[in-house]
Amino acid sequence: MEDQSSIALKSKPFLADCVEWSQESRLAVCVKNGVHIVTPVILGMISTGEKYNHVGISLPPLEKKFDETIITDADLVETSYLLTEEGCRMAKWSPAGLAPNQSCFLAVVTTKHRVLIYQISTRDATNSDWQVYEDLTDRIKDHAITHPETTTPNPHHTLYVSWSKSLIPDPFALKPVLFATSNKTGDVCIWAYTDTFEYKTQITPHASFVNLLEWTQWKKITDTTYIAYIVSACTDGTMAVSSVRIQVSVVPESGATQIQNVEMQVLHTWFEHNDSAVTTLIKVHDELEKGMMKIAISKGIKVQILCLNVKENYTLEAAKDWQVYVLQASVLGLSSGIWVGDDNGMDLFRGYTLEGECVYLKVDPEGNMAYDNQMSIMWSTKLVQKYKRQWMEDQAKADDDSIAAASDAFPTLFGTSDSPNNIFTAVYFSLKANLDIHYKGDHLEIASLCFLLNRERGEDVDSIIEMTTAFIQDPHFMFTKPVKGFLREILYYLVDDGDDEPMTQWISTIAKYLNVPSTIKSVNKLTERVYCETNTIAARIINSTQLELAEYKPPNFGPDYTSTCQKAKQIVQVNYVNAVLSYANELPEQDFSELNQQDITLLLLLADFALDLRDEALIKQALITFVRIQDQFPQAYDLLTEIAFATSFTATSAAIDKKARNKCPVCEANVHFIDGASNPLAQCEAGHFWEICSVTRTVLHSPNVQKCLFCKAKSLRPTNEDTFTNTVLKSCCKCLYCGSGWISSN
Ligand SMILES: [Zn+2]
Ligand SMILES: [Zn+2]
Repeated sequence: MEDQSSIALKSKPFLADCVEWSQESRLAVCVKNGVHIVTPVILGMISTGEKYNHVGISLPPLEKKFDETIITDADLVETSYLLTEEGCRMAKWSPAGLAPNQSCFLAVVTTKHRVLIYQISTRDATNSDWQVYEDLTDRIKDHAITHPETTTPNPHHTLYVSWSKSLIPDPFALKPVLFATSNKTGDVCIWAYTDTFEYKTQITPHASFVNLLEWTQWKKITDTTYIAYIVSACTDGTMAVSSVRIQVSVVPESGATQIQNVEMQVLHTWFEHNDSAVTTLIKVHDELEKGMMKIAISKGIKVQILCLNVKENYTLEAAKDWQVYVLQASVLGLSSGIWVGDDNGMDLFRGYTLEGECVYLKVDPEGNMAYDNQMSIMWSTKLVQKYKRQWMEDQAKADDDSIAAASDAFPTLFGTSDSPNNIFTAVYFSLKANLDIHYKGDHLEIASLCFLLNRERGEDVDSIIEMTTAFIQDPHFMFTKPVKGFLREILYYLVDDGDDEPMTQWISTIAKYLNVPSTIKSVNKLTERVYCETNTIAARIINSTQLELAEYKPPNFGPDYTSTCQKAKQIVQVNYVNAVLSYANELPEQDFSELNQQDITLLLLLADFALDLRDEALIKQALITFVRIQDQFPQAYDLLTEIAFATSFTATSAAIDKKARNKCPVCEANVHFIDGASNPLAQCEAGHFWEICSVTRTVLHSPNVQKCLFCKAKSLRPTNEDTFTNTVLKSCCKCLYCGSGWISSN
């Protein structure tokens, strides 16, 4: 990915720090005329596909016409109104999987201060623009508090927004987040999102335009009480930190979560009487478990760092005053920056100036910092190589008469962002000829998005394998971690045309976990049985890998890749059918006798499927199911062939004919499965075709259907009726094949 040519995007950003990598490993680049959402695609050398999926957003039309009044008072001029069209100020990703369409939400603040929440399109997710999920603008206005003394027009106008990290009170329940917005009169407003946006509270840490917000992680105080901190900056130069304390409760039956008692408190305010330069960047590094947080800010030409200790009562105490590093080669300050782990007790901060250099700082536990000359030069050199390459490409593309006779160019670095596990850095920059003549590029305002590799390719495979195996061994991995984004990022690293070894090594390590024996116990919920077994987590990682690499050509990842993929698919199916049949077989006699026709059909379809899958342990389980149904409903079913097959099954047994269990919803004729179709299909004797529910294996005739956006599998949506079928559908809350969440299918 780091070797591919950059993506050219028109227009420059409204604010610096305009690039952000989501937990799903997609990039949002917010520029004045829109937000670009870019997802790199893994391609091999003979593939002709596009290297990136590139979509955007469209702003919904403004309903109210803004007053075109004549401006008489210069103080009332708002720069954003001088733009002829509405543009985008900033965009921020929510944590993964929050939106109903299972994507991250993308919150966009426009230059007319609208706050729009977007989610992925369900139509053609890789080629369609993201859709507006909600426009919060009017609701924000409705909740605005009045500040009688203020003279600012439209004091409720939103300037910046920020998402908290996810709260995970229970891995199987909804994982809420808080959403903070800031405005022109110094307020920070808090919203909660579980399945809708709900206004919670607000506080006023500043007296004027709050231009930046940044959350820390959550710290758990008790089982139900959590605290996080918000660092905010104001255009009058002040900085503040406020605490947000909440209570979370989970409804055990439905898995719904509620956020109550949101309490905010301003803990500290700084720079009220000195240093009124505007803060243009805030980056927080926190280890609240260890009782500390560090704030790095860019204020004019100074980078300042403060170290705060968390006290027993959760107030914060500065270790010492703000420490200052004056940028040596920048007049514009930092455009972006990131805290990157620690090195022998020192935390490292990697900042990037708008002039395109890297500034690497080492920070001790008290906030004292030292400029790391060697690292700064190393990172700046990587950047310069990118600028040079881009400059050469630009000149090669330019028409003869517009080639500048310049050998050199000035970069402007608008933003950088590290991928979620810091493997890559995305860089957004533009170049301007080092000459006082017309250069074509300047007029088009073209800027480039490119990628740096933060570690040598192939050298870090061991740590990636270690990270992957830690995830496989976490039973809640599918419920608590951004699985897709994690995979995407490491595959960008592992897959390499020139060298199969890293990928082969990684796959074969995961493949070992396919053999971990099942640990299903009768105390486990059906959901746990289906998604939390180690071998199924490994299998779903392999299934998802196969989907992620669908465009890769030649699809050659070593001799064992294809057989490993087949095995993974088989393991997911065997485990799922075994989970449901064993669950049914454990039902008390009374409950079993009360199963309805639909439930029995589901069990028979899965038991038939078990015979197909030819797994001995599973066939024993199916035998119990067949016998139980035969004993309970002797008049309705004749299962003697199945029982005989299952009883005497050996690896060489010849398959038996499958009976039709489904009836055609149109003509009532028997429906038979069509073998060999990639997504299961069936056809009735009169010729009607049907899609099959990947969970119940019944024909999909109801409009009540959900689908997996990633692998296209479909399933019935559960209803509220208390039946065995609904228990199965509700327990299978994610796609069986790849583990993605379901989205409604219409
Ligand atoms: Zn039919
Ligand atoms: Zn799927």
